[in-house]
Amino acid sequence: MIWYPYAQMKTLDAPIEIASAKGVHLYTKDGHDLIDSVSSWWSVIHGYNHPEINEAIKQQIDKFSHVMLGGLTHEPVQRLSDKLASWLPGDLDYCFFSDSGSVAVEVALKMALQFNTNRGSKRDTILALEHAYHGDTFKAMEVGDDEDYHFAFGSSNEKKRGVVHIPTEMQALENAFEQYGERLTCFIVEPLLQGAGGMRMYDVSFLERARELCDEYDVLLIFDEVATGLGRTGNRFVADLVLPDIIVLGKALTGGYIGHAATVANKRVWEGFYSDDPTHALMHGPTFMGNALACSAALKSIELFERENYLDKIKNIEQITRREMQGFADERIKEVRIMGGCVCIEVYDAAVLEGFKRFAFERGVFSRTFLKYMYAMVPYVINEQELVHILDTMKAWFKAG
Ligand SMILES: *Cc1c(COP(=O)(O)O)cnc(C)c1O
Repeated sequence: MIWYPYAQMKTLDAPIEIASAKGVHLYTKDGHDLIDSVSSWWSVIHGYNHPEINEAIKQQIDKFSHVMLGGLTHEPVQRLSDKLASWLPGDLDYCFFSDSGSVAVEVALKMALQFNTNRGSKRDTILALEHAYHGDTFKAMEVGDDEDYHFAFGSSNEKKRGVVHIPTEMQALENAFEQYGERLTCFIVEPLLQGAGGMRMYDVSFLERARELCDEYDVLLIFDEVATGLGRTGNRFVADLVLPDIIVLGKALTGGYIGHAATVANKRVWEGFYSDDPTHALMHGPTFMGNALACSAALKSIELFERENYLDKIKNIEQITRREMQGFADERIKEVRIMGGCVCIEVYDAAVLEGFKRFAFERGVFSRTFLKYMYAMVPYVINEQELVHILDTMKAWFKAG
């Protein structure tokens, strides 16, 4: 029996069985052709079955698929680490690889906490955002503020000892640093776009001020760009606008081919561990870190992103989306939000979205709403006609009902 994600198995709708996929299309076992509006949890940015990524993996698989990084190393992981170091802004140059975004967030938090203990600091508090989602492992749940996902693990108070959550408001930010500044190890945020917490968007000025306050109070700034990295907000990385001390990448890193993630630190963080004292080492080592197939896919994914001018593609997606959503409103809709390759329709009442998945399926679109949010995060290779069809389907739901 398969245990499916975020689902009561007793009442689960049968999942749609996929037989093959190509570009932005999912082909079901019983012959349906669906345009994918979700990019398999926002990761498949180049579309499915991409010939060049396929080829890159095939070439590597004939050499070897995996060797551990404990005592061994190899060219794909070295090339990916070099590429990330030169591609990421500033001195975000020190790459720790892991197999999923949640683990990479754990590593980032571990880095921040140990950075402080290594220098003999007694700081013990983490600053995070309301409505944050950072993954499903335990520390990631603590810094997350996502009762809708993690309600089974106790009230927020017992779960969140040592974590302070604030809204994305300037005054709350100022107050938090004034009140807790001397005790903070780090401030972790999903920059500009909070994904699983409801596609919430906020202004870069909040991050600019956060950077200043982190400098003033000697606090590490962590950007969880697992969802936003590689273009989703219309920026390559939000880190191109405001530089964090640690960035976390996942999801689209391998073009959605293989689960892999990276926690990339700046020089200052690196130097907080670099010492003659063995107890100052970063004690973490996922079995599949730096997997050679994942690294090969990631290298090709980044090459495509640069070579094919993905930022222009994403700008185009945003322009078409704004054009199509212009003037669209309904009394059941609280807000329509658009940023880069993300559009979200938030409704007042989650019941309004019941049945939409089926409605979209019948119109050749795969969509997965959650809570009060209907959204699209399309593969960047989508063409105008396909994108308009997704947006028309979303709008048609409100016109129909
Ligand atoms: C998806 C996500 C994660 C968790 O990544 P997994 O690979 O699912 O563990 C962490 N942070 C953010 C912002 C995410 O969107």
